[in-house]
Amino acid sequence: MTYIAPHEYVEYAPSMVGGQVHINHASCSAGIDRKKRLYIKRNESTIVAYCHNCGGKGIYHITKSGSTRSLTSLKKELKEKEHKIVKKVVFPKDVTFDTHEFSTKALAWLFKYNVTVSLITKHKICYSKSMDRVILPVFDDKGELVFWQGRALAEGVYPKYLSCSSAEKPFMFLRTTNPDKNNVWVIVEDVLSAIRCSEVCNSIALLGTVPTTKMALVLKKENPSKVFLWLDNDNAGWFGKQKCNQLLSLLLDDVHTVHHPSQPKECSVVTLTEVLL
Ligand SMILES: [Zn+2]
Repeated sequence: MTYIAPHEYVEYAPSMVGGQVHINHASCSAGIDRKKRLYIKRNESTIVAYCHNCGGKGIYHITKSGSTRSLTSLKKELKEKEHKIVKKVVFPKDVTFDTHEFSTKALAWLFKYNVTVSLITKHKICYSKSMDRVILPVFDDKGELVFWQGRALAEGVYPKYLSCSSAEKPFMFLRTTNPDKNNVWVIVEDVLSAIRCSEVCNSIALLGTVPTTKMALVLKKENPSKVFLWLDNDNAGWFGKQKCNQLLSLLLDDVHTVHHPSQPKECSVVTLTEVLL
C-alpha cells in the first residue's frame, strides 16, 4: 500500500466534520489521475485520505495531546514546512572537506588564487570526486547553506560553473575579521574574489554581474562608510557596473568604482589593501 503524505491532502480537507472532497491525486503512483480519485474525509480528530486509483492511504491526527489545533493553523504550519523543504539546499552527496582528498587540479586551482588551506577550511570549500568539481558554498547569516557553485577542473567541461537550484537569486555576504575595515564593503562578481577580499574588508559576491534590490537593501542596512565596486573588465562586468551604480546610487551616497586590470582573486593581500583603502 502506498503511503500518502499529509502535505498532499491536509490542505484540501473540508473544515466541516464529516465533510468529504475528491481531488486529483497529484503524485499518484498508478499514473496521472484526472478523475479526482483522491478522497479526503474530515473526521472529528483525523483527516483520512484514500486514492481509488493507486490504493494509497493517509491519516492525519488533528488533535495532539488533548489540545485541538484549528485546521487553519494546521494548514498554515504544513505550508510553511513544505516551503522550508523546497528551499533547503544541500551539498552534492559525495563532497569531502578534507583537502588531502581534493584532486591535485582542485588544489592547484585554489592555490592559484591564494586561497590557502586555512581559507578553504574557514569557508567550507569542498570537493566532489564524482563531479570532479570544487564546490564553492554560500551561507546565509545564520550559517545555513543557501547556494553552491561547482567549478569544473577538467579542460573543456561545460558548464564551467554548475549551480544548484535556488528559490531566489542569491548573493554572498562575508564579514571581515579586520577591525580597521569593518564598515567598508566591496562588491565583486565571484565567490573566490569575495573570500580573498574579506581578508581586507567586508565583501559581497554578486555570483554574476547583476545586482539585486535585496542585496542593495541589505548593504544599505549595514550603513557602510565606503562601498567599492570591483567587477571584471569584460562586457558583462561593464554592464554590471552600470546596473550596480544605478541601483546603489538610489540608496547610498558614495560608491567607488575600482579600475584595476586584475580580478580581486588574482591580487595579493598587499594589492587588495592598497586598492580598498
Ligand atoms: Zn493515487
